Amino acid sequence: MYDIVIVGAGPAGATLARLLGKKLKILIMDKRQLLDMNSKSNFEKCCGGLLAPDAQQMLAKFGLGIPKDILVGPQLFTVRTIDIQNNIEQYYQRHYINVHREKFDKWLVSMVPPEVTVVCEAVFKRFEIANDNNIKVQYFEQGKERTIYTKVLVGADGAFSTVRRKISLDSRNPKTYISIQEYYKMNSNLPYFSSIFDDDITDFYSWTIPKDDLLVLGTAVMPKNKPYEKFMALKKKLILRGFEFGPCVKKNGAYLLRPEKLDQICLGKANIPLIGEAAGWISPSSAEGLSYSFKSAYALANAIQKRPDSIIAEYYRNTNKLRINIRLKHLKSPFMYNTFLRKIAMKSGLMSMDIIN
Ligand SMILES: Cc1cc2nc3c(=O)[nH]c(=O)nc-3n(C[C@H](O)[C@H](O)[C@H](O)COP(=O)(O)OP(=O)(O)OC[C@H]3O[C@@H](n4cnc5c(N)ncnc54)[C@H](O)[C@@H]3O)c2cc1C
Repeated sequence: MYDIVIVGAGPAGATLARLLGKKLKILIMDKRQLLDMNSKSNFEKCCGGLLAPDAQQMLAKFGLGIPKDILVGPQLFTVRTIDIQNNIEQYYQRHYINVHREKFDKWLVSMVPPEVTVVCEAVFKRFEIANDNNIKVQYFEQGKERTIYTKVLVGADGAFSTVRRKISLDSRNPKTYISIQEYYKMNSNLPYFSSIFDDDITDFYSWTIPKDDLLVLGTAVMPKNKPYEKFMALKKKLILRGFEFGPCVKKNGAYLLRPEKLDQICLGKANIPLIGEAAGWISPSSAEGLSYSFKSAYALANAIQKRPDSIIAEYYRNTNKLRINIRLKHLKSPFMYNTFLRKIAMKSGLMSMDIIN
């Protein structure tokens, strides 16, 4: 019998296991292979791999520094914002840490204490509440179905969370996008994170991120909106604006959540809490999610230690500031996503800077 079983060893799950691993009996499972730094995973997390200042602050609070082999070049200080509708470009200073996302996740897992049982290439299937109120968990590992029992089951299994789907009885789910990324051999030096706004492609945004000798082009579009055609239309428009894309060497995709209302964030119920993107913790304005994964894992770790008999109520209390943060992002969103307000904001030049060539 475990105290906690965590489904998903991404940033949220691995952080929770790291924080509680010495105090409680924990098993954490993931469908990816995250224990071997050198292996190539069967599933790869589709992500920009940029650590924004809020995520950097959480790493600082945890007393962590990122090893150099997890970084990729260039480190980025500039956001190039391109508004295709209004035909305006501006540059803003913002410091990101540019990482190799797969290696970053493996590094987080490597810090889980040895007392924790880490099971990789294991797929969570279902749970049921047993007579004594404990939880029976079933998962597949190496083609075999395994059954374990736990007092608390944590869903840290990302945007397409199986745990959330199994406990969520209503339809208050965040707006869901399909994100597509392609990696191209880079012909020229582009030391910016570009964020691209174009209502014909998406009501969210698209991006380019340099990663060593590759350039990532990504977008998040509505699933019903012919996602790949939209992606190709975006690429054509960027080529017309002077972007150069070499041969494509890799593609990936994932669901991406955008909580438009606070009640779309689901903390779970009773002894089945949700953290990270599984709960809907992600910025609705920028899709920055790593800081929310760290913060929600930390909030839940405190709740489990302080009020094991009333986890969700305590977790709710611990995430008050995070809800205010999401509310502030909602207030900022019109200035990014309303064509007219964005034009005024960008034309004003507020906070922007000139690039000296
Ligand atoms: C295209 C894209 C770009 C992004 N770029 C950035 C960025 O640059 N910076 C940023 O801060 N955020 C970014 N985000 C958001 C960020 O990736 C997420 O918010 C963050 O990864 C959430 O962490 P998590 O631990 O909650 O979930 P995840 O990172 O999704 O981890 C969930 C884990 O659960 C595992 N899992 C899922 N289902 C099962 C199952 N049934 N059984 C076993 N294991 C399972 C998965 O393998 C995975 O390891 C981006 C998201 C997308 C889609």
